[in-house]
Amino acid sequence: MTQYLDDLAEFIHTAPSPYHVTAQVAQRAAEAGFTVLDDAPGPWPSEPGGYVLVRDGAVIAWKIPEQVTEYPTFHIVGAHTDSPTFRVKPLPDNTSVGYARVGVEVYGGVLVNSWLDRDLGFAGRLITADEQHLVRTPAMARIPQLAIHLDRSVNDGLKLDRQQHLVPIVGVGDETNILAEIAKHADVEPEAVQGFDLVLTDTQAPATIGVDNDFFAAPRLDNLVSVHAGLRALLESESEHITVLAAFDHEEVGSETRTGAGGPLLGEMLGRILDSLNVPATQHQTMISHSIMLSADGGHLVHPNYPERHDPQHYPLPNAGPILKVNATQRYLSDGHGAAKFVGWADQAGVPHQVFVSKNTQPSGSTIGPISATRLGMETIDAGIGLLSMHSVREMCGAQDPEHLAKLAVAFYQDSRR
Ligand SMILES: [Zn+2]
Repeated sequence: MTQYLDDLAEFIHTAPSPYHVTAQVAQRAAEAGFTVLDDAPGPWPSEPGGYVLVRDGAVIAWKIPEQVTEYPTFHIVGAHTDSPTFRVKPLPDNTSVGYARVGVEVYGGVLVNSWLDRDLGFAGRLITADEQHLVRTPAMARIPQLAIHLDRSVNDGLKLDRQQHLVPIVGVGDETNILAEIAKHADVEPEAVQGFDLVLTDTQAPATIGVDNDFFAAPRLDNLVSVHAGLRALLESESEHITVLAAFDHEEVGSETRTGAGGPLLGEMLGRILDSLNVPATQHQTMISHSIMLSADGGHLVHPNYPERHDPQHYPLPNAGPILKVNATQRYLSDGHGAAKFVGWADQAGVPHQVFVSKNTQPSGSTIGPISATRLGMETIDAGIGLLSMHSVREMCGAQDPEHLAKLAVAFYQDSRR
């Protein structure tokens, strides 16, 4: 693996839940000299330098340049920390015919069949009276697929009932106390756990595959590739703008939450940064509207076994660079100006680039771009690297594309235009 992929693999593997992602971002930023701010009311420092703030599953990191103009604008990479998975139910323990099982809820647009027959762990946070404890376990659970001998027509189309057929098994015999088992891995007394937010996670480490190691396979590529690329670029770049990485939670369930892109988080943070720089409040909305966001999220590579699902003029391929995402109904926001800027950043960075538009009979996905732009009014360009198996428990991408995206993000941050 290249150094870049090694670093990405480690980032993904140590970040099995949004709370781990935000902790990783804060830790890496702190190691690079950023100040970790408390999420509490009060004025913020105005000195040049890097800052990072975590609010639950969302994280905002930014850099204030040495010379700030009178009316500063922001260059923001937007991404999300969450991925489709299963969330542990409030009263999880149950049994069926002699097996101990754990009740789970479906989170986001899960490609459910991909979760069958995987060695699954639990990850997330345990809440005690005074603290939050991040936790991840080794493989403890599995959702076994029914043998073909007991379902001869399965290959004509697998049908999985979301309540009945997706309950992981964790043991044999009586009901277990799964929370107590998980608490052991966080060094927390089980009785002290008062609340929790836990998801299932694949325990297999990321890897390169293919005859020339052309591909990179990992869980949560959507959208940790973008969070990681944005962070690397933020730490690396020198810009005259205020540069920001905004990674939101809850994109996979619609973003309309306190820490989602539809919530007040980013607007509040940008306002507080402008306050700290003594920009009059009457100017805040204008400065934010004149800022720019690169909304980075996974795109669809053309699938060699299903090329008919793509528009024949637009076939994104692995290792052919970041994809500009275009959609007439504005599910993606890139317009002509955005396209020109995107090509300029790719050229500046020396990376290839490509473009995606859905075929007319295939409704488009969406991202945080339109949600955030509708709220804040800033120019937004939707882009990202191409994936195969999007929303599978283990996705894949071209091995070179993650680094292409990070280089393009550096050029975006350093673009001297507003
Ligand atoms: Zn995504």
